Amino acid sequence: MNARKLKRDATESAARRGHVLRRFWKIEPTRSEEIPPFANRGEWWRSECVHCWADVDVHTQPMPNEIDIGGEAIALNCGSNTALVASSADVLAALRDLRSGDV
Ligand SMILES: [Zn+2]
Repeated sequence: MNARKLKRDATESAARRGHVLRRFWKIEPTRSEEIPPFANRGEWWRSECVHCWADVDVHTQPMPNEIDIGGEAIALNCGSNTALVASSADVLAALRDLRSGDV
């Protein structure tokens, strides 16, 4: 599938999960350790959400067992990782309680 349509589909899918994607940039497989050398065909493009940094990859010539659009921005809702922030706050509150002798 052509890269333009894949990027548009990926942007729409991500938007349904609340993400706002940056402009896609092209990944050169031969220069990237993130993509195995045997995948050196087709075009790879990547973007990420301006809010939560969830990423998305599109690949114009996936293997039959691969997907052409994938990534956190497709699988997870925007802001999913705020759970980490909340739990950090919980830990800090628990430490404060310990120090003040309430626990
Ligand atoms: Zn997001």
